[in-house]
This record gives sequence, structure tokens and C-alpha cells, in this order.
Amino acid sequence: MAIQVLKPKFHIDECLDAVKVCLEMGWTGMGFKTVEFEEEWKKYTGHPNAHFINSNTAGLHLAVKILKMANGWSDGDEIISSPITFVSTNHAIFYENMHVTFADVDEYLCIDPDDVEKKINGKTRAVIFVGYGGRVGRLDKIIEICRKNNLKLILDAAHMSGTRVNGVCPGTWDGVDVAVYSFQAVKNLPTGDSGMICFKEERFDKLARQIAWLGINKDTYARSNKGTYSWKYDVDYIGYKYNGNAIMAAIALVQLKYLDEENARRRQIVERYNRGFKDNKNIQIIPANYADECSFHLYELVVPDREALLDYLSQRGINCGVHYRDNTEYSMYHYAKGTCPHAHVISQHLISMPLHMWLTDDEVYSIIDAVNGFLK
Ligand SMILES: *Cc1c(COP(=O)(O)O)cnc(C)c1O
Repeated sequence: MAIQVLKPKFHIDECLDAVKVCLEMGWTGMGFKTVEFEEEWKKYTGHPNAHFINSNTAGLHLAVKILKMANGWSDGDEIISSPITFVSTNHAIFYENMHVTFADVDEYLCIDPDDVEKKINGKTRAVIFVGYGGRVGRLDKIIEICRKNNLKLILDAAHMSGTRVNGVCPGTWDGVDVAVYSFQAVKNLPTGDSGMICFKEERFDKLARQIAWLGINKDTYARSNKGTYSWKYDVDYIGYKYNGNAIMAAIALVQLKYLDEENARRRQIVERYNRGFKDNKNIQIIPANYADECSFHLYELVVPDREALLDYLSQRGINCGVHYRDNTEYSMYHYAKGTCPHAHVISQHLISMPLHMWLTDDEVYSIIDAVNGFLK
């Protein structure tokens, strides 16, 4: 069997038991397990608010939409973001008719604070920081820049489930307005598809809940007329169907119990890769700061001929990946071509090595040997 680059591990018996409870109860939608998971996630991360949604993509859209509404931003206003990310990050900005300005990436493949400062202009309203591969990069500097320039800060924490800095989840740092996590099938906490949006301010959490549920305001009558008049709600916004469901939450609750020990195993694999590649002059490793608390969603190398290495490894049953193509190469974002030279060059040389719970140490060593054998 070929080795996959990313592969989820489900604690199947426990997940099935948890899902069975939902099915027997006849409660598979929003509520019940979704509320339980929100509470557990707040405890696990330290976020004061958390709303369980159907994806990180939906959450990023909600984050941009709510901050735009609350701050009176206009169509065409700009948000600075990364070209080295899954397109969800940048689509979320365009969903709200705002404009993506790309900042170049630093050695961590996170946006570079120096370039962010250069890209700020009179129309800049916010920054989206992607914690690439679980890394924290220079998020602290980005927070300073946002503060100084009165910009909001959205953290795309899709890779960051379990990342900490001195025991604290960086998403909870002062200056991060909202953090959005992904529990998509290959992320560190896999479900089927789901995510979490964590606003610092409670009023925005409330708004997120309402807009993720079609804009329905259940407070109106529910408080005074319990039960019978539950259909008599108001609708304040044209909201979306972005809520998470109890089946996904039931799986998430089980998977969360194993997240820390699984991230520790990821770090062990990363250490082995680092040791295996550090003396190879043809290979550059992407560093991680706070590596002993990083979630390491991805492990990438920078190599001279990426395509040749991909082919060579795939012939040997080792399937690698590319995370990510420079987003300015996509037609939709072509207008920004040339604005992020480092990202452009490095994305042509990036290759993601297999990193998941099914990898054995023997497989890790055989991958190291294969790569070093090819790149002698
Ligand atoms: C996976 C991913 C997303 C989207 O997450 P979904 O939950 O699949 O919507 C967004 N940003 C990054 C960086 C991702 O890796």
C-alpha cells in the first residue's frame, strides 16, 4: 500500500458509540453535542467564545462579514492575506466584496510583518494571518502592526488545533479579534467537515450564531413563550446555513481527547525528518518557532526539482503533496502576480512529506532514505 501524504485517524468504536447516541436520541442537527463540543473546545483552548460551524471556510466568511458590518467597512476595502494558503482564506474576503492584498511570506511561510507594513494603505481594514502548518510565525509582530494601524486581525487557525506557546493557544492572544479552526477530514482534529469560530467579543459570537443560522432571532418570543410559540421568531439578517451538526460534534468530542497525544507523535515524526535531512545540502527545511508546542499539520521541504522528486517518490509508493501553490498563480488572483516574490519562488520548490498517525517509524526512515538517495 502506498504511503499517503495526509490521512485521518478516527477512533472508530468510540466515534460510532457517540454517533449512535445522537441517532437513538433522534438529535442529529444543531444543539446537544454541538453545545457540548463548544464547551469542551473553550476549556481546551481558553477561548472565551466558540461557535461550532460546518467548516472553516464558512467561519472565515462569517469573520469577514461580521467585522465588516460592525466596523462599517465598504465594498472594495482591503484585507491583507497570504498567497501560501488554501484558497478559502482569500475567497472569504471576496465573498464580502472586499479586496485581497497579498503580503509576502517569511521563512516560516507565514506572512512577513515587514511586507505587511509595506502593503498597508488608506483602504486597509484587516489582516488575515494563516498559521502555516500550525506555526505561529511572527504573529506577535503582526498584532503590534494591527494595533498601530487600527486594523482588525483574523487568524486562520485551520492548521493550528493544539498549537500552543508557553501553554497558551495563540488564537487567544490579545489583539487577535477572531480565530477560525478547521476540523475537515485531514486536519489535526478530523471529523467529516466542520469548524469553529472563536470571537474575542461576546457580541460578535452572538451575531455569528445568528448569521450562521439564517439570521434567525430566537430571542424575540422564546423568552416569554417557551415551547408553543417557538415558531414565532424574527429574522434580522439574510443569514446563511453555516451551523455545525451533532453528528460531527459527536465525532469531534471523541477526537479531541486524542489531539494532544497525536500532536506529540507528529512532533516526534518531525524531529526524525529534521535529523534525517539536516545534513543534505540540497534540502532546505521550513523552520518552526515554538516547535515543541507546534501542531505540525504539515512537514515541507524546499528542494531544487520538486516535480522530479514527487515522481521519484510516487514510483516508490510514497505520495507527497504541495501546500500550497502561490495563490496569485490562480486566474482569480492573477491580478496580484509579482507582488510576493519570495512566495512565488518558494511555492515552486515546496513538497509536503507524509505526516499522519498511520506512519510507522520504519516508514519515516524509508522516506528519509528515499529522499536523501534521490537528492545526493
Ligand atoms: C483546510 C483549510 C481551510 C478550509 O477549511 P475547511 O474546514 O475545509 O473549510 C482554510 N484555510 C486553510 C489554511 C486550510 O488548510
